[in-house]
Amino acid sequence: MFINQEYIEGLLHNAESIPEADISKILDKAERMEGLSPQEVAALLVNDNPHNLRRIFLIADELKRRIYGNRIVMFAPVYVSDYCVNRCAYCSYNESHAFARRRLTMDELRDEVRELERMGHKRLALEAGEHDAMCPIDYILACIETIYDMRFENGEIRRVNVNIAATTEENYKKLKDARIGTYILFQETYCRKAYERLHISGPKSDYEYHLTAFDRAMKAGIDDVGGGVLFGLADPYFEVLGLMLHNEHLEKEFGVGFHTISVPRLRPAAGMDIADFTNLVDNETFEKIVAVIRLAVPFTGMILSTRENREMRGRLLKAGISQLSAGSCAEVGGYAQRGKSGGSNPQFTVNDDRDALSVVSGLIDDGYIPSFCTACYRSGRTGDRFMRLAKSGQIKNVCLPNALMTLCEYSMDYGGESFRRKADGAIRREIRCIENENIRLKTEQSLNKIRGGERDLFI
Ligand code: SAM
Repeated sequence: MFINQEYIEGLLHNAESIPEADISKILDKAERMEGLSPQEVAALLVNDNPHNLRRIFLIADELKRRIYGNRIVMFAPVYVSDYCVNRCAYCSYNESHAFARRRLTMDELRDEVRELERMGHKRLALEAGEHDAMCPIDYILACIETIYDMRFENGEIRRVNVNIAATTEENYKKLKDARIGTYILFQETYCRKAYERLHISGPKSDYEYHLTAFDRAMKAGIDDVGGGVLFGLADPYFEVLGLMLHNEHLEKEFGVGFHTISVPRLRPAAGMDIADFTNLVDNETFEKIVAVIRLAVPFTGMILSTRENREMRGRLLKAGISQLSAGSCAEVGGYAQRGKSGGSNPQFTVNDDRDALSVVSGLIDDGYIPSFCTACYRSGRTGDRFMRLAKSGQIKNVCLPNALMTLCEYSMDYGGESFRRKADGAIRREIRCIENENIRLKTEQSLNKIRGGERDLFI
């Protein structure tokens, strides 16, 4: 098995005695964008020399700029069903937690998607509890088809990522055929003991079945998979090494590792008491973890949700995050219900409740380019094809033009006059960073076409 508990503990133990000179060499290697081995990651995690920590943050910021420029990819979750047969101690969907459960009808889903599109979203993460009877794969497939079939005045949802429970190779084939973007699944914790204690019953309590989900997904032809752990369930450094070994395993077996890594942190939720969890991660440790992951896998997207508050989101963007959710609702039917009384059961309490436009606008104020781009997977740039492009440095000539075009589109369709001016200023500034002159000219032409009413232009 590619996750060996004693091996990870050994890595952390041995890392305590790594000399300072070696730490400096590890940081030099990270700076060269070569990525890091699990041993090197362990060394950075356990080292608490403030000088090294400062360097870790500087390099994380620098790598992010070099690889991603100022772009931040935007998305939002859509929860379709909270029926669940699992008893996960941290989750409000826990089978033993009594509340009125709900599964969206296709009409209700259309209402949700309409709200999300009204906010300007083009990329969704579809979320559901696990329940073969109430939420079978055919229901998930119908949801995906419904979302992709919807057309609005200003466009459509162009990419549906899916975060549903570990399933069979046959079901992954069906998801692949339904044209999903990334298949996202959090291991929750790589520590087998903690996993078995916290996943009390239900199919998810099978550590190995959950751990090998991406192997089945990859065999089924899904080549963009997104990993993650729920920080707060076990030793956070152990979790980071679990992620690294999992990534290494996928690279070895399938030629490509995680497309993205998510870093959710445990939040209070109905039906659980956060005080029962003794491994909660403080802000400083969390920030360091994000930065170390950025150094270790420089070309892997890193996703942050509204589990974090505005201030932490700002700090973590500098430490390496490249994708951010905005205007999110973590409950079934929550978007159409917003502002009305009632509501269902959020999976966790959201920590950044600004609307999407405020988040996007705030990002521009902070010097970022919010991107609504979904071009890569629609142009077949997935799996190792995407990674080769990223590693070649060409991402600048592809992603930046696409980001600017989608921001222009967003500003025309969803922002007011003053937002449009702000976005235009940012676009003018960034367009100069497109190194290839032909592409720069082509982007300028496309921006003019978008201002003239054309939509969905991309490279
Ligand atoms: N049912 C699928 C599964 O089992 O993987 C999808 C899971 S759920 C819709 C998405 C994620 O929310 C979970 O994987 C978990 O990490 C996270 N989550 C659950 N309870 C949480 C809490 N109290 N605070 C923060 N995140 C939580």
